[in-house]
Amino acid sequence: MLFPHWAHVRVESVGVVGRTVRVRAGGRATSVACPACGTDSSRVHSRYERRPADASVGNQQTVLHLRIRRFFCDSGDCPRRTFAEQIPELTFRYGRCTILLRRIREAVALVLGGRPGARLTELQAVGLGRDAMIRLIRALPDPAVGTVRALGVDDFALRKGNHYGTILIDLETRRPVDVLTERSADALADWLTQHPGAEIICRDRASCYAEGANRTAGTATQVADRFHLWQNLADATERLVKRLRTEWTPPPVEKPAATMAEGQRARNIRELHAAVHALMDKGVRHSAIVADLRKDGKTIRKYMRAATPEELIGGGPTGGRRTLLDEHAGYLVSRFSEGCDSADLLQKELLQRGAKVSERTVRRFVHRLKADNAPGTKPPLPTAREVTTMVLTHPDRRGEDDLTTLKDLRDRCPDLDAAHRLIGRFADMLVNRTGREKLEPWVADAEASPLPELRRFATGLRRDWDAVMAGLSTEWSSGQVEGHVNRLKLIKRQMFGRGKPDLLRKRVLLQP
Ligand SMILES: [Zn+2]
Repeated sequence: MLFPHWAHVRVESVGVVGRTVRVRAGGRATSVACPACGTDSSRVHSRYERRPADASVGNQQTVLHLRIRRFFCDSGDCPRRTFAEQIPELTFRYGRCTILLRRIREAVALVLGGRPGARLTELQAVGLGRDAMIRLIRALPDPAVGTVRALGVDDFALRKGNHYGTILIDLETRRPVDVLTERSADALADWLTQHPGAEIICRDRASCYAEGANRTAGTATQVADRFHLWQNLADATERLVKRLRTEWTPPPVEKPAATMAEGQRARNIRELHAAVHALMDKGVRHSAIVADLRKDGKTIRKYMRAATPEELIGGGPTGGRRTLLDEHAGYLVSRFSEGCDSADLLQKELLQRGAKVSERTVRRFVHRLKADNAPGTKPPLPTAREVTTMVLTHPDRRGEDDLTTLKDLRDRCPDLDAAHRLIGRFADMLVNRTGREKLEPWVADAEASPLPELRRFATGLRRDWDAVMAGLSTEWSSGQVEGHVNRLKLIKRQMFGRGKPDLLRKRVLLQP
């Protein structure tokens, strides 16, 4: 019960030597079939010992000492004279570990990859080196791919920006069926030739997948998937909002140069200096001042000697402790006045000016500048990105503030209002799959609109009409493909980008 994989051996002894559990055992079967011809044999030729590593017992390294019998094959036709027995469910040819242990290591390798996998197996007392873990992944057979009726296709970056791969998903089983190392019509066409039978192909609108699908899967229905349709529309919307934004942005007002208020420390120094000197003016002596103000004697003497508080403040324009920032404070304040409040950017500029200050320091400085120069008036206009998000968010999910802002902007800008209406109608088609009735009038309206971004989007839809229509009127969509692409990216990140495409492929296809 506890060790089901030992069912076919007779355990003779179990002992712990050092930190290793050693289990002596031998096969139970009285006769064994020859692996070449299948004839049973019980005539033993010789015996020898195999020592496969096994799954750990109580997290202790475990080794089996198996007495293995070599049998004669008495079948006259068989090319083999003798053969060694394999213990069912326990050993395999040339295996230096048991089948169970191999499964455990394979699972760890698939989930974690080489180096982290090696580390985990070590902690589990079934340690295997990084390279061996990687060999395990490579040796795993591909999962069997039956006929894929509904195929989802999408791309992913193999190396950012210059090399893309393709992931193929069975939309019915929701499992990845293959990972191709390129994004091309040829690669998809080849795959479809080798795996005929696709009836539905869900794809983005990049022309290469359409071309690959056209070439080989002539009868398959191509579906422009909704995720990408919406993404294309979102991109067009962002461009549109960016262009329109200049129309509702008031001209920039000359802002007064920013100033730097004095910090708390400087204020404290001024107060104490004034108090000390007021007492001195009255002729009070050092010891009495110390007693009166309850300060340290040395501090008071320092204050008595300083004619002005500035001598004590000492620092630069920030009025705080002297920091590297002080000599550049003027520069920062002037850049801030020009409208630059990015600590990240300012720190880089300072580095170029030779000031080695941390981004944190700059951030704190900018934060104070902001607080000191807060206008206390109306909130600033939303950014193009914010407006894009407002326009693309379902009305029911928009916050009260966004609704008001958007309403206000639409009142001010008729083009934004027109875009907003068109986008709402498209979203409705996406959600309710009403393309059959509504796509044609929508495209016509978009093409007649004064919005070049949406006109271009509409023209693009016409070029891929059948697939777009299918995407907006059938249930098929490769929305789930995005989930698989994200999972793939996660695995790729675990591999620190050093992963070879074939390893990535195995892990994507086989990871449970
Ligand atoms: Zn034989």
